Amino acid sequence: MKGVFVVWRHLFKGRILTYHEVELCWYENHLIKEISLTELFSSLKKVKGILMKKKEKVCVRCGTQDPEHFVQLPDDKGEKNFYCVNCIQLGRVTTFQFLYYLDEDKRAGNQRSPSLMTWRGVLSSEQKRACQEVLDQMADIQRPHLIHAVTGAGKTEIIFPIIDACLQRGGRVCIASPRVDVCLELAPRIQKAFKTIPVCVLHGQSKEKYFRTEITIATTHQLLRFQSAFDLMVIDEVDAFPYKDDKSLHFAVSRAVKERGKLLFLTATPDKTLEEAIKNGKIIRTTLPARFHGYPLPEPTLYWIGNWRKAIIERNIKSRLWQLIKMFKRLPGIKLIFLPDISLLKKLFLWMDHRYPNDKIASVYSTDPERHYKISQVRKGSIDIIISTTILERGVTFENCHVLIIGAEDNYFKKSVLIQMSGRVGRSKNFPCGKLIYAHYGISISMRQANKEIRNLNKMADRMGLLRRFSNG
Ligand SMILES: [Zn+2]
Repeated sequence: MKGVFVVWRHLFKGRILTYHEVELCWYENHLIKEISLTELFSSLKKVKGILMKKKEKVCVRCGTQDPEHFVQLPDDKGEKNFYCVNCIQLGRVTTFQFLYYLDEDKRAGNQRSPSLMTWRGVLSSEQKRACQEVLDQMADIQRPHLIHAVTGAGKTEIIFPIIDACLQRGGRVCIASPRVDVCLELAPRIQKAFKTIPVCVLHGQSKEKYFRTEITIATTHQLLRFQSAFDLMVIDEVDAFPYKDDKSLHFAVSRAVKERGKLLFLTATPDKTLEEAIKNGKIIRTTLPARFHGYPLPEPTLYWIGNWRKAIIERNIKSRLWQLIKMFKRLPGIKLIFLPDISLLKKLFLWMDHRYPNDKIASVYSTDPERHYKISQVRKGSIDIIISTTILERGVTFENCHVLIIGAEDNYFKKSVLIQMSGRVGRSKNFPCGKLIYAHYGISISMRQANKEIRNLNKMADRMGLLRRFSNG
């Protein structure tokens, strides 16, 4: 930030960094004007990167104690030296190198400043109820709060007043997600809702450097660089990979929140671990079973297509798969086709592209370098059929969208994945319905479970009087 006087402490408070990160931060922010590098290092607190707890090694940055995560380096002055492979992607942490940190300020207290929210939308009565439930429980710092909101319930808007309440008390907020796509979708919306606060967005693919501000958006991996930094931590898509099975990321989240801070989880598909914690009273839950526009969740049509893998490989235009694709592609609006396998996805794309050269088709998968560009092209209308693996399952919302899941029975498509993919349909109130097809070669348990859960949520919403009444279906 040119011309702005940077107080060096601001860049280090609430963070925990390696030697190289401190050095880089000092250099990039021209801190030489304020403090020499030697002075800086002696002003920061430090702790060894890897500690010995009894006989176990512990990585101070990522918290791992798994012996397989430690790799031996040449001894240092006769002492054993290790580095941690578990968090190596953020730079190396070793036994003899320090991690540097500075304590975050205590929260300002209870005096409230005026609202900082510039969002002028109106919450539905259900969104208001959810929001109020969370606000009422803010003082319960022992227990995280989970908002279980169906896809399209408008969970992002619900958190605006909650963020505002924290900011008004002088707090710092972090909105984190395991998925970079989710962070990228959230960033402009949050920035628009709090126009006067610069939002810092941190993820592995971004070149943006850290700056201190009241609102940070980050992937859960980036939280490994924070310590007691945030008064409110919101984890969006809490059940998504890799957060769900990664102990280090759980460790990172709990360390990044202040001792008296609050954790808020958001998801449309709580997994078993979360359900269990709710049952045991360790997490408070608020459920929103209806979409904000009051139309029910689209329920899937289960459609048998036989051996779809063979049909793709042989390019069999007489197959049930091809007949279905022909029908599906004629639907108006955006068509999302999901497949569980990248090589078959590429084959199907080439086949469709060959048969329909005038159609605007694209394929997207996780390692695709152009995936963000392609998604933006869908929004602009330059692409209307998109063939994807599950990377588009969450966080991505298109208007007037239909979903066809090919190979819905595949093991890769767990219940939560199916529900998330299904949730892409009918998001806008102008297009609240759409086609949703589970095309399969034998119905799986996950398909049954997803179908059942969608129907149950619709029933629950109906019982609560949250659905619009239709003259016909
Ligand atoms: Zn580590």
